[in-house]
Amino acid sequence: MRKPFIAANWKMNKTIIETAEFINAFLPMVNDVMDVDILIAPPFTALSEASRLLKSSNVMLGAQNVYYEEKGAFTGEISPGMLLSAGCSCVIIGHSERREYFSETDEIVNKKIKTARNNNLEVILCIGESLEQREADKTFEVLGGQLAGSLKDLPLDAITIAYEPIWAIGTGKTATKEQANETHEYIRGWLRKNKDGADNVRIQYGGSVKPDNIEALMSESEVDGALVGGASLKPDSFAGIVKGAAKNN
Ligand code: PEP
Repeated sequence: MRKPFIAANWKMNKTIIETAEFINAFLPMVNDVMDVDILIAPPFTALSEASRLLKSSNVMLGAQNVYYEEKGAFTGEISPGMLLSAGCSCVIIGHSERREYFSETDEIVNKKIKTARNNNLEVILCIGESLEQREADKTFEVLGGQLAGSLKDLPLDAITIAYEPIWAIGTGKTATKEQANETHEYIRGWLRKNKDGADNVRIQYGGSVKPDNIEALMSESEVDGALVGGASLKPDSFAGIVKGAAKNN
């Protein structure tokens, strides 16, 4: 039985003060939820403050990106050790916005996951197809390629997969629960065929998840949680998603 996992990706949103306001409002809304893993990934600048406020709570702290070197002359980059020292236990790697705007390839994603895992950070690996790829019936081929490249020479320990169809991110268009489940089934099948321990891996769906569609998505056997962008920016909306996931557990 895989424990549901709901994660907030705040992207480039929220100052330190806004982060504190969110956390102070959000924690009382979810402090009785024990059967869902909850994670917030604020921007780097707010990690330390978030860590201080989340201490002894049931909410974990994650980062949205990491570099693949441990230290050195890499201006503007952040190492896994820095994330650990800021209180993170997890990092999101390979988000489609990083792939599209910052030219992250599967090879770079693979190096980042390796360094993160060497430092004992849990990883949320994002994969997903574009609308053109889906319409050309290339979804499984694209996802298989992303999985093979991103997970090359890596075991599946402490890795969550976030399936995020690019056409559903920030667009208000959600994949149907059937589309999500069918694609998660493909991902699970790929993992079973190529790696050990595939049945323990959680597969999150991401793409316009909201309080009013989380229950339907979570009712599907292969949907183990969600990675949430826009709807994670307001405490009541993100709490609604967490509670919707808890109901279906
Ligand atoms: C995301 O960017 O990870 C995401 C799923 O965004 P949204 O929920 O806004 O579609």
